[in-house]
Order: sequence, then C-alpha cells, then structure tokens
Amino acid sequence: MQSEWQRRKDAQNRRSRERLLQRLPQPFPKPVLDRALRRPFIPPTPRLAINSYWSGHPLRAERLARALARSSGAPAGWRWRLGEEHDSGLPATFRTPPTPYRESAYSLGPGACCICGQPIYRFGWHSDLWQTGINKNAVWHAACVVAWEFWNAPNDQARLLRRLQSRRCGASGRRLRKDAQVDHRIPLFQVWQDYRDRPWPDLLAYWGLPNLQVINRDVHIEKSAQETRQRRLDRQISAEPA
Ligand SMILES: [Zn+2]
Repeated sequence: MQSEWQRRKDAQNRRSRERLLQRLPQPFPKPVLDRALRRPFIPPTPRLAINSYWSGHPLRAERLARALARSSGAPAGWRWRLGEEHDSGLPATFRTPPTPYRESAYSLGPGACCICGQPIYRFGWHSDLWQTGINKNAVWHAACVVAWEFWNAPNDQARLLRRLQSRRCGASGRRLRKDAQVDHRIPLFQVWQDYRDRPWPDLLAYWGLPNLQVINRDVHIEKSAQETRQRRLDRQISAEPA
C-alpha cells in the first residue's frame, strides 16, 4: 500500500512538474530538463532545474568554469597573492584557488562572473540562450558556484572520484578502502611555492580533476609525511647562506 508520505510526494512532484513545464523558456537545454524530471523531488523552476543540473555534474561544472576563465585570461598586472584584509578579496591561504575577479582591485561588477570573468545570462547560464542579454544582478554563473565548491571541498565528491578510478587507490593501485581520502597529486603548498607564477587560469587545474586522486588513508598519511619532510628540507636549503 502506498504510504501517505509517498502520496504527498507524488502530488508535490505533479505540481512541480506542471510549474516547471509552464515556465520553461525555449530553447531549454535538454539534459537539464531530463535530469530535473528524473529527480526524486522535481525542481519547480527553470533556475532550480539548472542549479540541480550543475550540482549533479560537478566535474562538468568545474571543466566549464576553467574553460570560461580561459576566455577571460588574467587581468593585466594581476599575480597570485595572499592577503589578510577582508575587503581586498585576496585569498587568505594558498589552499583557496586564486580567482582574480573576486579581488576588489579587479572586480568586473555585476553581470560578470566573479570566478571566470565571463558575462552571466538569464538563470545564471553562461551563454545568451534566450536572447535576454546580460543579467545585471548576477555575480556568479550557476556552473561556477558548483566549480568553486568542488575546488574548495573536493572530499565532498569522493564517491564520484572513486567511481572514476574504478575504486582503485590512485597511488598504490590497491582496492580503495572506506576511509580513502581525496588528495592533490601536486600538493597545494608546492603549487604556491613552485608554480605560483604560472599563468591564470592554468593554475586552477591544480584544484580541478587533473590534480585530484583518491588514495587510501595509510598511503595518504605516508605521502603527507613525505611532503612535510620535503618542505622542511626546502626551508633548510633556502636558509643556508649562499
Ligand atoms: Zn563563471
């Protein structure tokens, strides 16, 4: 027998589906609509359908964000810097991906995405699909929100990354255990130390899929210990008189 909960959910989904289809502007990206209609709870608006699409495809979102950033390039004179002041928009640590257009000195203002620097259109989409022009109230692409979350918290996507590696440890090749962790192949301190002058947005790839792997916890602990020893050695060498 159908539970009361299931009946309510079905009724809500019927309403949401109706609302979504009524409001749907044409053309609407088919994969976005297909996913929306398959959700356990159907998003009732095009905007929510788009958000749901990117949340479900974080790797696509982060690839797109890097491609869009490539169209912008870095602003003239920009270099990756860290900062303390809250209103400068500078990242406080090298663990945060460098994003010039979030910095107050290079901000492009509403209508341009603070992550990739490209124009934002209706529903946070990245092209003018509906010929409505730039969305002057927006500062993030829907895809770039998800890319930003992914770069800052890749562990949240551990399940997806495990699947991509066929559940094998990226370092030892052994079967991934439950406690496996997401690791940056080239550690972020090293990116800051050795590669910080690389052009933007190439830098972003160090936070993206190209530099991520899932590895077993024991391998991760050993890798981190080695990295710490290497950092200490590097510091000693640079402190020695020339
Ligand atoms: Zn963007």
